[in-house]
Amino acid sequence: MENHMTRRDCLKTLGASATAASFAAKSAFSTDLSNPEKKRDGYIDAHVHVWTSDTERYPLAEGYEKSNMNPPSFAPEELFHHMEGTGVDRVNLIQMSYYGFDNSYMLDVMDRYPGVFSGTAIVDPFGPDPAAEMKRLAERGCHAFRIQPAHSRQPPETWLQPEPMEKLFATAQKEQLALSCLIRTDALPEVDRVCTIYPEAPVIIDHLCLLDTGDTHPVTDEHIKRLTSLNKHKNLYIKVGAFYALGERTPPYLDLLPLIEKVVEAFTPDRCMWETDCPFQVVNGKYEDSLALIRDHADFLSQSDKDKILRGTAERIFFD
Ligand SMILES: [Zn+2]
Repeated sequence: MENHMTRRDCLKTLGASATAASFAAKSAFSTDLSNPEKKRDGYIDAHVHVWTSDTERYPLAEGYEKSNMNPPSFAPEELFHHMEGTGVDRVNLIQMSYYGFDNSYMLDVMDRYPGVFSGTAIVDPFGPDPAAEMKRLAERGCHAFRIQPAHSRQPPETWLQPEPMEKLFATAQKEQLALSCLIRTDALPEVDRVCTIYPEAPVIIDHLCLLDTGDTHPVTDEHIKRLTSLNKHKNLYIKVGAFYALGERTPPYLDLLPLIEKVVEAFTPDRCMWETDCPFQVVNGKYEDSLALIRDHADFLSQSDKDKILRGTAERIFFD
């Protein structure tokens, strides 16, 4: 809690003047994390959002206001400040909902720090040519595309039935671009159905399918089985993270280890990737708390398993 307050106070104090320059000037990361010459072989964080308080230059999507942005900004330099000293040196950015289908802030951040970021963009499935848009964004470094029931205009039980949603899977398979699903277990039957039709499409399930939250809390074996039974799809991947939001939601998050063990056992470390879901992780705990759960506390994993979950799997999907 103390960290939480410190962080919030810090943001409040810096306010709108928390520019890239002021952060860079104060931190050692400028010679390391932001150095385009640096060889990167450290840990990879598979899920981080960035946004800026500059809503003039990067307007918010309809339905969002500045007051919805909490914290008020999370620029890459603020992220580097948290990553410093952890051994994480690459990050997959996830397009933030505040910007709707306009990925420009994320793309600009990726351009600003070559080699550091990969991107997971959001395209409008009902837009004029989503496949062309995915290919255009892939050229800018987006290896994945986030999808969720809200974009499909359907409830989770039927969310992939509209033709434009299924077409995203056809494009993903053809272009070998991943689809990253923000879903709960009620949306899994549709994932199962569409992965059977497009078995070569790389598909990722974010945040451990949000197991042990909402109506799956406390999580039971039956809940876990709904997810792990999908391991028959060889191109289905799981993001292991957002620990601040799951179970008891309290560092060091040890209560989540039995769930993580079952998921990793089902999908193998080759199909699991660690993520923080920053800035939400650092609003609710420390950056290091998330990393430490896998690196230091998951005793059921070998060193090689940990290397796959903390680096190898994400490297293949996002940085190849
Ligand atoms: Zn997120």
